[in-house]
Amino acid sequence: MKYICITGGVMSGLGKGITAASTGRILKDRGFKIVPIKIDPYLNIDAGTMNPYQHGEVFVLKDGGEVDLDLGHYERFLNVDLTSEHNITTGKIYRNVIERERRGDYLGETVQIIPHVTNEIKRWIREVAEKSNCDICLIEVGGTVGDIESMPFLEALRQMRHEEGEENFVLIHVTLVPTDIMGDQKTKPTQHSVKTLRELGLQPDVIVGRCSKRLRDDVKAKISLFTDVPVEAVISAENAEDIYYVPRMLKEEMLDEYLIKRLKLEEREDTRKWDEIVEKMEKRRGEVRVAIVGKYTFIPDSYLSIREALKHASIELGVKVKIEWIEASEIERGRIELEDYEFDGILIPGGFGARGSEGKIEAIKYARENEYPFLGLCLGFQLAVVEFARNVIGWADAHTSEVERTSHPVIDLLPEQRGVKKLGGTMRLGEEEITIKEGTLAHRIYGETKIKERHRHRYEVNPRYIKKIEEHGLIFSGESKGRMEIAELPEHPFFFATQFHPEFKSKPENPSPPFVAFVDAMMRMRGLK
Ligand code: GLN
Repeated sequence: MKYICITGGVMSGLGKGITAASTGRILKDRGFKIVPIKIDPYLNIDAGTMNPYQHGEVFVLKDGGEVDLDLGHYERFLNVDLTSEHNITTGKIYRNVIERERRGDYLGETVQIIPHVTNEIKRWIREVAEKSNCDICLIEVGGTVGDIESMPFLEALRQMRHEEGEENFVLIHVTLVPTDIMGDQKTKPTQHSVKTLRELGLQPDVIVGRCSKRLRDDVKAKISLFTDVPVEAVISAENAEDIYYVPRMLKEEMLDEYLIKRLKLEEREDTRKWDEIVEKMEKRRGEVRVAIVGKYTFIPDSYLSIREALKHASIELGVKVKIEWIEASEIERGRIELEDYEFDGILIPGGFGARGSEGKIEAIKYARENEYPFLGLCLGFQLAVVEFARNVIGWADAHTSEVERTSHPVIDLLPEQRGVKKLGGTMRLGEEEITIKEGTLAHRIYGETKIKERHRHRYEVNPRYIKKIEEHGLIFSGESKGRMEIAELPEHPFFFATQFHPEFKSKPENPSPPFVAFVDAMMRMRGLK
């Protein structure tokens, strides 16, 4: 087994996850099977209880794991489906160690960070790597080298390096190379963070320098001199207009060649599959505009998978998609009029809580009445049902019981959710099979009657109201075991909403069908088709 470990220096937010995913992709295209593991050194068991302000969206895996959004990058860049095992947190490691201690597995020993915690980390990594039958296991360590939280992980990796042997273990360190006001590229932050790594007994094999413009050769030489990293392993990674350019950039720097040589891997044919995606992306012509009406529109990472799914559809259809971010609570307060914006469709993403819900309902009404293509996801689906119940059926007080008590709770808590007090990991989570009715828009979109999509919610369409709602013309065209999963309006050019989150399954090589259909509908709206 070969291991590539990626650490970050200087500061967070350098695009370490993208660098790691891109490194994986260029090696995948060279014919190697890659399995990624993301280490998040925080104490939370998973990202499920975190709000998007700090970490961006919570990504959902097929097994229901609620994880850091970097796992989404791995799934999309590597075209794989991962599970919770691919995300290690301090919480998960300590939980295992403490459970073992209680069982008496440590036979009276004093349980310590070294060796017990580090052993558990190594065991977890090796087990995931071996089970996957991969050629290369990619391990990204979240946070910045020097953080107290990441110490046990870096120590475990230091031990692994010796145990696995030099030719089976590579450490890539991603750092910042800032430019000063004179335009000089500064290497001091890199020198300092490599020094911190060395104090922990780790010597980098590759340095990826994040910079605003390509690293100059003399700067590479200087970094090489101070860090003992060969100059061909000092890689320039300048800011990219789109993250999908990063694999190509790393390839131009010949990172794939270097890693193949350094890990003594046998050369395989270069399929250049990712290049094809990028070429297709560059060929996009024309533009459609989508209004995303949400709650965290000022933090772009909070809707990352939706942005990505729109991009996949846009690449597939050869048209650019521009996003207009609209804050739902601003509509609510009357500070924003939808008429003042230019768009070809409206998308309402998932979300939690009351804030902005009236603004979202207003936006759905606007899309329904003015025949704008509409895509509602999870909360967006639930509020589409509420809007219909209020404004078409005439139940003026209809609402979701998540927001308020009402005599028409058209969206209500799932029966198994009643009385659930624990928040972490207790929602309806992960992939489930959905049955689609033949002859519906859903059927045309998916081309199948059985699909699998990922979930993350507590509330659902209240079964008491299904018949009445359908009689008035909002059709539930997909369900799973009696639970409503898809709603559509046959009279409307494109009104489609899902209780599940199709965005989590979308990949450049496998765009999500509802997103493709939605972008297609926007192209028709714009007269591009
Ligand atoms: N808050 C809603 C629920 O819990 C919707 C969840 C979501 O949009 N992810 O059912």
